[in-house]
Amino acid sequence: MSSKLPVLIAGAGPVGLTVALVLTRAGIPVEVFEKATDLAEDLRASTWHPPTLDMLDRIDPALTRRIIEMGLIARHTQYRDRRDGLVAEFDLEQLRGDTAHPYRVQCEQFKYTRLLREVLQPTGLAHLHFGAAVVGATNHADSVELQVEDATGRRSVRGSYLVGADGVWSAVRIAAGIEFEGFTFPERFYTASTQFDFAPHFDRLSLVNYVSDPQEWCVLLRVPGLWRVLFPTAPDEPDEQVMSDAATERRLQAVVARHEPYQTVHRTIYRVHQRVAQRYFTGRMVLAGDAAHVNNPLGGMGMNGGLHDAISLANRLVRIDRGEPAEPLLAHYERERRPIAIDYINANTGRNKKIMEERDPAVRAQSQDEMRRMADDPVQAREFLLRTSMISALRAAALVQ
Ligand SMILES: Cc1cc2nc3c(=O)[nH]c(=O)nc-3n(C[C@H](O)[C@H](O)[C@H](O)COP(=O)(O)OP(=O)(O)OC[C@H]3O[C@@H](n4cnc5c(N)ncnc54)[C@H](O)[C@@H]3O)c2cc1C
Repeated sequence: MSSKLPVLIAGAGPVGLTVALVLTRAGIPVEVFEKATDLAEDLRASTWHPPTLDMLDRIDPALTRRIIEMGLIARHTQYRDRRDGLVAEFDLEQLRGDTAHPYRVQCEQFKYTRLLREVLQPTGLAHLHFGAAVVGATNHADSVELQVEDATGRRSVRGSYLVGADGVWSAVRIAAGIEFEGFTFPERFYTASTQFDFAPHFDRLSLVNYVSDPQEWCVLLRVPGLWRVLFPTAPDEPDEQVMSDAATERRLQAVVARHEPYQTVHRTIYRVHQRVAQRYFTGRMVLAGDAAHVNNPLGGMGMNGGLHDAISLANRLVRIDRGEPAEPLLAHYERERRPIAIDYINANTGRNKKIMEERDPAVRAQSQDEMRRMADDPVQAREFLLRTSMISALRAAALVQ
């Protein structure tokens, strides 16, 4: 890699900015191109799994400290049934020997990207270009060329490598000619956030609750000052209807019935995909985060998996910068990270969705019994927690040759 050229990064989401963080810490200049005119402010990921906190802690303990300060510590995860209440509760404290952070943190991703911008600015090595859409890219033997469109028109920029962290519709993935294999669910997911406190209306509600139901499952997630309630939607129901005051009120009243109407602070509806890129790199273009894999949000693994990609990839780009051959390092990145997206992230989030939406009473009863047995058995509970907190995936990745 020529030390004169910066690494180009498409997308200033959590993944792109984390790549920028690791590279600038190693003295490597980066140019980040973001299509939007500012950092995203919408409510998306809010769960930080233990190994993600461990990894960020190793880069800079102040980062993890700030995420914890800006969020809420969630030690327990509950699996509930909408009619019968608590089915099983798992306590991350059981992973104390496996992680320095035996809990999830509930902190909105937009707080993290703002924090990274603050941290990156004084380095002088990271240039963030907003309102700059990546529209094409070409591999050359000694560099990569990016086409960017901004208010002044179209221009081309050269870099040593190009990281495609530009999300689900990645322009870098398209420029690289990489297939995005998988499917899109017919239903969309709808999240309504309210300041109403659900906790006193349940028996021991935790901050992260997966609530199954044959008619309408939901997820109850706490972030500072808000409860976020996630529901599935019927495939043929128009967005405006799903997001209407009347439909939102009906759904929230079914969670906790109250006399006053619910006030919501945010409403988001979105398509959910289960897709993995066929390749993670070609030449000098490399994918990470949602550009490389997307999954349903049940389990909070999308952003976390993307951050694991970001750190793994950025560490390799540092080694390439220091003179190690690029191809084997990038091929190893693909061998390490791609199976995780398929075998762990998609498998776990897919399993979670199935459990929550199952309609057959016998199958529901069986899976709830299994869940109770797992929670009651310390060995099985630990295995479950290692898997759902993504520690098993990282341990498997560490063994990849
Ligand atoms: C409602 C919701 C809830 C979620 N909850 C969780 C959760 O609890 N836990 C979890 O781990 N994950 C969750 N996820 C997933 C998580 O938000 C994503 O996995 C995460 O944002 C991926 O980060 P990223 O940086 O790869 O992509 P993004 O965050 O999508 O960032 C990509 C950036 O690239 C920019 N961009 C796009 N195209 C271009 C272009 N052509 N040129 C330049 N810039 C471009 C975009 O504007 C964007 O800023 C959730 C997602 C949704 C929608």
